[in-house]
Amino acid sequence: MSTATLTIDLDAIAANWRSLDRMTGPGVQTAAVVKADAYGLGVTRVARALAHAGARRFFVAYAEEGAAVRQALGPGPQVAVLSGHMAGDTEMIHDLDLTPMLNSLEQITRHLEALPGHAFGVQLDTGMNRLGVEMLEWQAVAPILLEAGPELLMSHLACADESQHPLNEAQLATFHAMTDGTGLPRSLAATGGILLGPRYHFDLTRPGVGLFGGLPHVAAHPVVTLSLPVIQTREVEPGEAVGYGCTWVAERPSVIATVGGGYADGLPRTLSNKARLWDGDTPCPLVGRVSMDLITVDITHLPEVPRSLDILGPHQGVDALAEVGGTIGYEMLTSLGRRYQRRHQERGA
Ligand SMILES: *Cc1c(COP(=O)(O)O)cnc(C)c1O
Repeated sequence: MSTATLTIDLDAIAANWRSLDRMTGPGVQTAAVVKADAYGLGVTRVARALAHAGARRFFVAYAEEGAAVRQALGPGPQVAVLSGHMAGDTEMIHDLDLTPMLNSLEQITRHLEALPGHAFGVQLDTGMNRLGVEMLEWQAVAPILLEAGPELLMSHLACADESQHPLNEAQLATFHAMTDGTGLPRSLAATGGILLGPRYHFDLTRPGVGLFGGLPHVAAHPVVTLSLPVIQTREVEPGEAVGYGCTWVAERPSVIATVGGGYADGLPRTLSNKARLWDGDTPCPLVGRVSMDLITVDITHLPEVPRSLDILGPHQGVDALAEVGGTIGYEMLTSLGRRYQRRHQERGA
């Protein structure tokens, strides 16, 4: 195998969905957010595994992503589009039976005029100031819109990963003010919101990152292993430097392995001289700078040269590696490179 291998454990994703589903009451549905190619893990296989686990509603960011999910799942499951009904998307929304979450008066007008009778939901802005219909607009349009029968009223929390943040309660109160008495299904919680407790669960939750082994779902099963092939090794003498800029200099006779993978594959330069790779249970320090396609690793202490070294796996998950690189698990996952050979593992439930 000449390129790096990204192994994706579909059973772990299914188990994570089930465990998030169990965190809410029996009347609460659990959807699955599979935007950005299922957080970089391959939406076709991931969506099928989640549907098999029991997910019936899927969320994506854009209509094009919705098309991929519909293709993977066929008719039946709901595919909701968070960016709503954008100009030019009408045909796709109609033909592939996508359910746009309308975000503005403009989108509401577009949808009701272009596709009267076609399913939709409404996204409300309760304080994040990113997407959604705002309070005053909502008060003006709600009486007409509620008659058209939205399938869902939803909003998104800005600070759900900080349980004590005052904006959580404020957004919850605003969501109640905007939706109480409508009698319609409601959704406020993503992964972080599920962990905030039942007051945030309403009728439907929308976990994404927690399915894929990321924080804030602390109990998540690890989902990805990323193995980088050893291309070459060399011995360096004390005083010799390794890599661009000579940022690492050997202090003892050392064996350096050069492995395939670099910042072009989503392994950021900020990991230079900081991260560790693993040979089974043995950590090996990354030395020198991460370059575009290559990383150099000190393997002096290993009894023999391994065929590959793991930079993501049971010893170092996406959040741990992200922290070393100064980013978050979400960004680490969605940056996972196109060059990796993606291998989806599934034993079946
Ligand atoms: C991305 C997203 C989610 C999923 O969030 P996670 O934190 O990954 O669980 C849910 N709802 C909306 C509106 C989103 O944009």
